[in-house]
Amino acid sequence: MKTKLYLIIVLLIIPIISMANIPIDSTKTNGKKLFTVVLDAGHGGKDPGKYVANTKESDIALKVVKLLGKQLESHRDIKIIYTRTKDVFVGLDQRAAIANKAKADLFVSVHCNAAAATSAKGNETFVLGLHNNAANLEVVKRENSVILLEENYEEKYAGFNPNDPSSFATNLMIQEEYLDNSIELAANVQTKFDKDLKRKNRGVKQAGLAVLRLSYMPSVLIETGFLTNKEERTFLRSKSGQKKVANSIYNAVLDYQKNRDVNLFEVEEIDTSNVVLEPVANNTIYKVQISASGNKVETKSYNFKQLPEISREKEGGIYRYFTGNFSSLKPASELRALAVSKGYTSAFIVVYENGIRRRL
Ligand SMILES: [Zn+2]
Repeated sequence: MKTKLYLIIVLLIIPIISMANIPIDSTKTNGKKLFTVVLDAGHGGKDPGKYVANTKESDIALKVVKLLGKQLESHRDIKIIYTRTKDVFVGLDQRAAIANKAKADLFVSVHCNAAAATSAKGNETFVLGLHNNAANLEVVKRENSVILLEENYEEKYAGFNPNDPSSFATNLMIQEEYLDNSIELAANVQTKFDKDLKRKNRGVKQAGLAVLRLSYMPSVLIETGFLTNKEERTFLRSKSGQKKVANSIYNAVLDYQKNRDVNLFEVEEIDTSNVVLEPVANNTIYKVQISASGNKVETKSYNFKQLPEISREKEGGIYRYFTGNFSSLKPASELRALAVSKGYTSAFIVVYENGIRRRL
């Protein structure tokens, strides 16, 4: 009798188990790998984010994310995962964990900016920065401060001081790998905003934002506009404004995805036509990358704060700008310091070995 009962239970369980193995999105795949995007509406619940004149950053972020998600979901090869779809609190580590667990191809965090000066305006997109940058510290403090609302944050974020991004102990080597792609997406977003919103383009910036540090994939944090600026607040509160913002991000993500598809079949080529290959020992060239953006700018010194020997390379929809061209590291380090002092605070050295560029 007992054996029979077990058999019945087993027979009942088998179909349930095999059903559980069927991916929910099987209808979407068509045999092609889904491009997974995690959409992260900043803040929520007990953390409204910036709260100005009855306008909560958490509300606007969620509305934009939902509009954006709806548009992206209409593509059968794109899978969307939300870190939240309601007004609830989600810790920064949880948000990143959701994205890491999904092995997402992209992490897109949506926020609104704020400043003491009500005249401050425009939009900017952040990628992870590995060093402190005083100019971005206010954004870093504000967007990281939510950690203080989390229970046991000292344990969870081992030794992290939200006001000091450099105190964050994570595997930065891993994230370095994703930086170029993050910059590409960020540049796409800023280019679309520039074209569609016609607002001040504050550019692509680098900062030690916790949520970007914890997610191991190309990740950006978008500041869609200033809630402290009346005109931008009104725009962001409006349905049409939210739609415009969502649509710009949507187009930026699609452009990014298109480039990924191409790269599956083509070997990535770097245009080295600007590189003067002098007959130096071991064929190594050092340059300093000063910026990367969607905009094509003439490689004239006066366009780059009088820095010398400007060169440009196009890759994956963005332009990278370099200064200098040396066969040894020392003058490149000195030029990097000069570039930083002139305001290119995230400038870094790249090295070309036999025409192949890598970040130093
Ligand atoms: Zn925020």
